[in-house]
Amino acid sequence: MALKLVVIGGVAAGMSAASKARRMDPDIEIVVYEKSGYVSYGACGLPYYVQGLIREPTDLVVRTPAQFARRGIQVFVHHEVTAIDATNRRVTVKNLESGQVFEAAFDRLMLSTGGYALRPPIPGLESPADNLFSVRTVEDGAAIRRFIETERPQRAVIVGAGYIGVEMAEALVVGHGIEVTLVTLFPPLVPTFDADMSEHVSAELARHGVRLHVEGVQAFERQGPRVTAVLTEGEGFPADMVLLAMGVRPNTALAQAAGIALGPTGAVAVDDHQRTNVEGVYAGGDVAEALDLVTGEPAYVPLGTTANKQGRVAGENIAGGDAAFAGIVGTAVVKLFDLDAARTGLTEAQARQRGYDVRTTTVKASSNAHYMPGGGPLHVKLVYEASGRLLGAQMVGHAAAKRIDVAAAALHARWGVADLQKLDLSYAPPYAPVWDALLVAANVAAK
Ligand code: FAD
Repeated sequence: MALKLVVIGGVAAGMSAASKARRMDPDIEIVVYEKSGYVSYGACGLPYYVQGLIREPTDLVVRTPAQFARRGIQVFVHHEVTAIDATNRRVTVKNLESGQVFEAAFDRLMLSTGGYALRPPIPGLESPADNLFSVRTVEDGAAIRRFIETERPQRAVIVGAGYIGVEMAEALVVGHGIEVTLVTLFPPLVPTFDADMSEHVSAELARHGVRLHVEGVQAFERQGPRVTAVLTEGEGFPADMVLLAMGVRPNTALAQAAGIALGPTGAVAVDDHQRTNVEGVYAGGDVAEALDLVTGEPAYVPLGTTANKQGRVAGENIAGGDAAFAGIVGTAVVKLFDLDAARTGLTEAQARQRGYDVRTTTVKASSNAHYMPGGGPLHVKLVYEASGRLLGAQMVGHAAAKRIDVAAAALHARWGVADLQKLDLSYAPPYAPVWDALLVAANVAAK
């Protein structure tokens, strides 16, 4: 009899697992349950959809359930898995449209329930409001854009200044001319960036008229179904709309109830084959941990890059293969108006907290040859051990996006700053100066 794979959650990790398993084994029976109305979409494109660069929310979808069906993968949207019986290998599923509840058997299970947008118990958040949004699903993005187009808000408050918070600030300012206030517990992009690099991010936000207020939110002021202001200890920020971008947490409730073990980060613990502690149950993506190659410890870094790779590894192993996920170095990049902010490895603060004997070098270099139009300054910070071993890099400025990948490759190779110095990196005036910004930083560090 053909093996039966049940996938819970049909976005990056889940559909990568399903697709890889299908390519490996044409006979395996594959069923995907997804509680939202969409599968296989790029959540990463949501800010650009809200901005108006992308016309329809469905443009974010890579493949529809009908397209998966043609590949022999059955997808059920609006179906929520409410329980996993790991002993008897069954899941309980609720059809959210009809209310019907049924059970389905599995031989292998892919847990790809992803993450959820954090919503702490702050007064005013007890019940939904029609101008209060998270940014996680296609439905969230569609609701935000519908609200903007019908209600024409003038003032928005975004709570949280991580990647999603700053991307949404740009989307609202550039796309809709909305006056944006960012209220945030930490300076922008901290703690994934150091505070000194975050200053360049704050400057870029200010240059584009985004008001920044670094303080915890005490309450959301309500008038019936609307939030009217976001209150901190010292101030109140009136709002026509509010976006919550306070962080992502792994969606582990289902796993925990089924006895699937969590790791030290609070996400599902997996080995390098994406196996959980329960035989036949695999996990990957925002619900799971990943091995941090710099520290050698599990980490929770919920990114689409990792979700796709972990899903693919799980799918291969589910279908009888022997694939291993190499691990992560936490590489990420975000576009911020006219700049990029990019990072990989450990920040200085993270490295110090872990007890490394830390050294840092920060340089301000130029993204292009100085005489070429279109470039600009690029701030580079290298974080390394006294021995010279690279621990991390951050870049804020022009054309950081792909340069950070060189530093990421160096972390994978466990290089020192002296190795970086020797690299033969590309040069032509529109792309780089003769001494690339990364080489300039490595030269200073190696001294
Ligand atoms: P998810 O995308 O969270 O999907 C999990 C799915 O499981 C959800 O659709 C959910 O409805 C479903 N589900 C949960 N529980 C159940 C259940 N019980 N039954 C059925 N279905 C269930 N990453 C990058 O690398 N680069 C970026 O630029 C980037 N930008 C981003 C911008 C935004 C606005 C957002 C929200 C995320 C961004 N990310 C980015 C992160 C990236 O989108 C995620 O890491 C990725 O989507 C994780 O994929 P996943 O499959 O693990 O989980």
